[in-house]
Amino acid sequence: MPMSLGFKQRLLPLLPQIAAHYGTPFHIYDEVGIKETCRELIEAFSNVTDFKEYFAVKALPNPSILSLISEMGCGFDCSSIPELHLARQSGAASSDIMFTSNNTSSAELEVAFADGGCILNLDDLSMLNRLPHKPDLISFRYNPGDRRVGNSIIGQPIESKFGITHHQIEVAYRAAHEAGISRFGLHTMIISNERNHNYMVQTVEMLLEIAQELSSDLGIKLEFINMGGGLGIPYHPEDFPLDLKSMADAITEQLHTFCQTNGFEPRLYLESGRYITGPSGVLVTTVINRKNTYRQYVGVDASMSSLMRPAMYGAYHHIEVFEKTEADEQECVDIVGSLCENNDKFAIQRQIPATIVGDLIIIHDTGAHGHAMGFNYNGRLRPKELLLKPDGTVSLIRRQETTEDYFATLSFKPDQFYPIPADNITMTQNDTT
Ligand SMILES: *Cc1c(COP(=O)(O)O)cnc(C)c1O
Repeated sequence: MPMSLGFKQRLLPLLPQIAAHYGTPFHIYDEVGIKETCRELIEAFSNVTDFKEYFAVKALPNPSILSLISEMGCGFDCSSIPELHLARQSGAASSDIMFTSNNTSSAELEVAFADGGCILNLDDLSMLNRLPHKPDLISFRYNPGDRRVGNSIIGQPIESKFGITHHQIEVAYRAAHEAGISRFGLHTMIISNERNHNYMVQTVEMLLEIAQELSSDLGIKLEFINMGGGLGIPYHPEDFPLDLKSMADAITEQLHTFCQTNGFEPRLYLESGRYITGPSGVLVTTVINRKNTYRQYVGVDASMSSLMRPAMYGAYHHIEVFEKTEADEQECVDIVGSLCENNDKFAIQRQIPATIVGDLIIIHDTGAHGHAMGFNYNGRLRPKELLLKPDGTVSLIRRQETTEDYFATLSFKPDQFYPIPADNITMTQNDTT
């Protein structure tokens, strides 16, 4: 089910008061749900020697949420300078931060190495020579190309910009070894939002095959394998959920078998984002207009600047009307924001209970890749974020954007530049010689 029953029972009785106090639109996250999911995930892998989840910060980059996740014993996966700062501010130790960047700049490498560093996961061999200094531990991102298929959501690995090829694996690890690096990990990510756990089991199988090759060919014993993120959630009420237990049991067995054959067991890392926070967030918005033309439109006070997934991927988000059910009169509508783009729709030709202006609309599963993907096109501002605590109290954990924020980048020191007109360049050069 999208949005757990527990979250519903915690939120819905309080929702009118919360909406009245804070005003809509807002994303609200469920502390109990996020912690429960972290606990379940860690528990599922309890028979693996050393399992660690590195939460993908890009899914929900809010310091209050990151603190919760850190308290649960998870680390963080970052890929930009601000994400590194967020992870460090949450109190994460350097071994709790993975830096999985791509097309990486030197400035990013500098920050990755600052403040005690982090675990570097390199996207390409060329980055090895650009490191400010050689770390003890390095990991490479593997892209299997046509040796494996990704799922339909992430596309074919051979078309993906990420990672190094199978042929480059040996070259990369040999070069790192020769450069004096002594500790190694291996990373991959070839699926996204996948609820069939067999894909994850196959991913681990692929990583262990390479671990075996590196051990027998180069004598490198990988300290960890990182299976990436991509665990799926049921966005649609009919979707089956990921079978976490079967996935974890199969992977645990793979690791134990590997250990028996090879005499060592790499630690298992996961960098899930969506699975941890996705179902524990909703976007609450109010009906502000109804319009009847060729279609019936329900206009709400949020736009795609608050949640881009439906417009960007045609993604389904389940939508409910507060205090109305299937037993109420239904209508088929497009639920729209105010952007001057016709894809600014949270739902297209969706059957929902008939609404009136003032009704609260709850858009499910916005806890990951929701607020974080927001933007300012068309002068649309991002909404606030709230946290529902275990005791039923609510905290504002990010204020809504204001027009002043929108204008903030227009306040700067004047910088007028007068390039020498092209015609004069040769003359000027002659003058000075
Ligand atoms: C986006 C991303 C993740 C998280 O993906 P989810 O679908 O949220 O699990 C993990 N690792 C990397 C490298 C990513 O880019």
